[in-house]
Amino acid sequence: MINRLSVTQKLVLSFVFVIIVGSILLSLPISHYANSPETSYLDHLFNTVSMVCVTGLSVVPVSKAYNGLGQILSMLLMQTGGLGLVSLIAFSTYTLKNKLGLSDQDLLQSALSRDNQKDLKAYLAEAKQDNKKIGFVPTMGALHNGHLSLVQHCVKNNDVCVVSVFVNPTQFNDKHDLETYPRTLEADCVLLESAGCDYVFAPSVEEMYPEPDTRTFDLGTVSEVMEGAKRPGHFNGVAQVVSKLFYIVEPDNAYFGEKDFQQIAVIRAMVKQLDIPVKINDCPILREADGLALSSRNVRLTPEQRQKAPLIARTLKESANFAPEKSVQEVIDYVINTINADPVMRVEYYEIVDGNTMESIKNWSDTTYPVGCITVYCGEVRLIDNIKY
Ligand code: AMP
Repeated sequence: MINRLSVTQKLVLSFVFVIIVGSILLSLPISHYANSPETSYLDHLFNTVSMVCVTGLSVVPVSKAYNGLGQILSMLLMQTGGLGLVSLIAFSTYTLKNKLGLSDQDLLQSALSRDNQKDLKAYLAEAKQDNKKIGFVPTMGALHNGHLSLVQHCVKNNDVCVVSVFVNPTQFNDKHDLETYPRTLEADCVLLESAGCDYVFAPSVEEMYPEPDTRTFDLGTVSEVMEGAKRPGHFNGVAQVVSKLFYIVEPDNAYFGEKDFQQIAVIRAMVKQLDIPVKINDCPILREADGLALSSRNVRLTPEQRQKAPLIARTLKESANFAPEKSVQEVIDYVINTINADPVMRVEYYEIVDGNTMESIKNWSDTTYPVGCITVYCGEVRLIDNIKY
């Protein structure tokens, strides 16, 4: 609930909290302390008010900048213990912010987000000098809880969490898709800040590609089948941008979602081929309550399509119930026919593959790791999903 509040609301809330609790403490009867030989009422009062201030200013998760400021103020208050000072500082911070005409997003973006490699590298050099573990989550923005689950894994397992927000043109084989891809950097920064991300790298196309990237990757079957076959050049673009980002960030850990199941295999192959020393961590698919896999593209669904879209996950789940008894082909036919029976839906492909090699299987005994990968057009919107059998 508190993370939904704006920075200003959090700031005001923290100061109101301090003032209310402080005032209650001020009104406590002096007689209660009169008999205490060690602590005078005034000492105790100042200590209590200071503690309340410390709690109020640092527990309420204001932006990092405010939090730092809050802690300095708290230290000051430890020495002086004065509600007047708190009110004065609250008032002057608020007035200053308004006078400067800064929006919450401005503050968050300036605190969190940078668009050039130089700043990012300088920031990371310091962290690396201190032997800090760097975690990295590459995204194209328009963030939702699926992305944030990756960020949470990253924050939990590393000292520094860097997230990139970059809509990479080289991985779009459809110009219309690139042009209409949702871009919401300001809102993304707000979400990332509350998720505990330390640095948002949001470069321009020129920053990432001062010259065209002419590299062609040969990553074998993992990049050639399914998405590779249907979206020519897509995985080459993914390998280009992710390798560039890995060279810039040099992370210890990188986090990818299993929603783009084949993409993880491509990244693993690329990292192996280029010998990049990073651990690739895969994270489970986050879904809506009705089963639809979260995706930045879901916002493009009409209300009717949105209502129909959970059919994909539902059918995959149902197919897993009888998968061992039916042949691989029967399961494939069931999934395709069930989804295509809805006029709004059109299955582009459904394949059951070995989850490591991405090679199609004919019999369940062909692999110990069978995964079904699907792409469906729901109206104009291309949705992907998968299931482990
Ligand atoms: P994108 O911004 O679409 O390139 O996605 C960035 C990362 O978030 C990729 O590793 C995706 O696989 C991951 N991701 C996207 N949607 C989900 C989801 N619903 N659950 C888990 N991870 C996701």
